[in-house]
Amino acid sequence: MVKRLNPKYKRKVFPIIEKRDGDICFFCVMMFVPQVAKWNRTYHHLNKNTEDNRPENLVFAHEECNRLCEDKSDWQIRSTKKLLENEKYHQYVESDEEIKAHNDEDKDTNVEIDTNELYLKLSLNELNERLVGTVEKPPAHESINFKNLCMDISYLVNEEVAHGSPITASRAIETLCSSKGDFEKFKEKGGKWRIKKRKK
Ligand SMILES: [Zn+2]
Repeated sequence: MVKRLNPKYKRKVFPIIEKRDGDICFFCVMMFVPQVAKWNRTYHHLNKNTEDNRPENLVFAHEECNRLCEDKSDWQIRSTKKLLENEKYHQYVESDEEIKAHNDEDKDTNVEIDTNELYLKLSLNELNERLVGTVEKPPAHESINFKNLCMDISYLVNEEVAHGSPITASRAIETLCSSKGDFEKFKEKGGKWRIKKRKK
């Protein structure tokens, strides 16, 4: 089973690695500094196979240390040893994790809810920006094309969580266009759906 090392998967493996190794660089054992690019946290693949994203095969490392490792044979030997250690460790904690599988399912649901919130938040921002505007920046048009907005929202969600869908975006936008919302969906003459600000 190949798992992509995308933001959602990182959220899942982060606590597993943190519990095992602590939130420090595997190579230099120092903390991460988000403000400095070379000291940011990255996920180092112990066996160099970037498709092998089992937690066993992942450790935290500075961007810089991860790069330096390519030329340091002693660090590569440490990586190989660490992978063997991790495999033993994970075998041992596996039964523990089965019990927690329950909680993990709950966590997955939370991720789902977070994503829905993201769709709603981004849709509301876009609708406000394009149809309400501000005094300095009034809206350029009175209404906008519904389908185009769905595509734009899906794109924006995809940038944040790597799995945006126009259909989910359309649901979020329709929610904001409900009779209690500030916007409404209407059909123009050609049969295409558009959105405008609801007159109250
Ligand atoms: Zn380091």
